[in-house]
Amino acid sequence: MTTPIAILGAGPSGLALGRLLEVSNIDYTIFERDESAVLAAGRGGGTLDVHTGSGQAALQEAGLLEQFKSIARYDATNTLTDSTGKICLEMGDDGEQDRPEIDRKDLRDLLLNSVPAAKVRWAKKVQCVQKENDGSMSVHFTDGTIESGFQLVVGADGAWSNVRSMVSFLAAADPHSQLHSSAAALAGKGNYMSFGARRQFAVQMLGDGSYYLTLGMHLPESWISENATIVKDPTALRQLLLRDYFDASPQVHKDLIQHSDGDLRLWPLYALPAEAMAWQTVPGVTLIGDAAHLSTPFVGEGVNCAMYDSLQLSQQIVKHGLGGLGHAVEEYEKLMFPRAIDLITRSATSAEYLFAPDAPWGWIKSFAGIDSA
Ligand SMILES: Cc1cc2nc3c(=O)[nH]c(=O)nc-3n(C[C@H](O)[C@H](O)[C@H](O)COP(=O)(O)OP(=O)(O)OC[C@H]3O[C@@H](n4cnc5c(N)ncnc54)[C@H](O)[C@@H]3O)c2cc1C
Repeated sequence: MTTPIAILGAGPSGLALGRLLEVSNIDYTIFERDESAVLAAGRGGGTLDVHTGSGQAALQEAGLLEQFKSIARYDATNTLTDSTGKICLEMGDDGEQDRPEIDRKDLRDLLLNSVPAAKVRWAKKVQCVQKENDGSMSVHFTDGTIESGFQLVVGADGAWSNVRSMVSFLAAADPHSQLHSSAAALAGKGNYMSFGARRQFAVQMLGDGSYYLTLGMHLPESWISENATIVKDPTALRQLLLRDYFDASPQVHKDLIQHSDGDLRLWPLYALPAEAMAWQTVPGVTLIGDAAHLSTPFVGEGVNCAMYDSLQLSQQIVKHGLGGLGHAVEEYEKLMFPRAIDLITRSATSAEYLFAPDAPWGWIKSFAGIDSA
């Protein structure tokens, strides 16, 4: 039987919306391209900090805040250095942070386990969405199947835009690796971030005690295709990164780049322009999370904004009921646009500061409210 609402994508925003509709007794189906929950768990890594006024507010409404608190880490420290490894800022932790960290995988599991298994349809990669003559919506999948009769389709499937400027490489260092102590010396129980010379080197502790390494460089998107052979060869890629981008880095950074375990995953970063946040409401369809307002991750709020979208959309759906979904979408989008513009703008500014030649000082001055002009 067709449910009134289809949610496309089982990331944080799609799953949070599913859970919020679940607790409000509104029927929905989530369609996800990943083949299974197991495969989904392996996708992407690192940790996310979940904020009180947004991500945690959504979890509270979803009845998941206590469970979240039991697995979140409240003792993560943040260390910011320049490209030589000189410490520029340390934010210690008193154990009472309002931005606790959780592994990306654990957040997805928390949300996924909170909705009935039958509500998530795996291996359903969406190709397009169509409006039918009777006003209902149908979803077409790449496997050739079509699901029809929805009153509202919510895109929660991430997004791509034309603004492309940066490539990140990510790798994982195993806790049993000989490098574990080096990673621990840098990041301790939290995050170590080194910026400068238009590069980023970051180490994060994950919930299981292992460390996750992120390297960021400001490159044109064409860099990947221009180096197509090298990027497929982990050893050659590490050599290239060390030679061309991290040659002047502290030895401990270079050791971690050279000897970290696991493949380097390429993760090009994209962002929508803030001006895109003003579309006319289209009856029967709306967007949440990155699909609505993809931004670079330099203010660490993407997942919080995404789950807050889910909260505001679910509240409007409950308020207007299934008979008033058009009004619900209109009201939700009015609330979402200014938050999205703020997120995209602040993250773009942050990226400029963090990838400036003198980074991270411009960012620190801005963070401290000091005018650097
Ligand atoms: C390197 C990096 C670091 C980040 N760090 C932080 C951080 O510290 N803090 C923070 O708040 N945010 C961070 N973010 C941003 C955060 O990850 C995103 O904002 C968040 O994941 C958005 O959730 P979402 O559910 O909207 O989209 P996604 O997490 O992208 O989920 C989309 C889902 O849709 C599925 N999907 C995609 N296409 C289709 C299709 N065609 N059909 C069906 N399903 C589909 C995907 O498989 C996925 O499950 C970071 C992002 C990056 C890239």
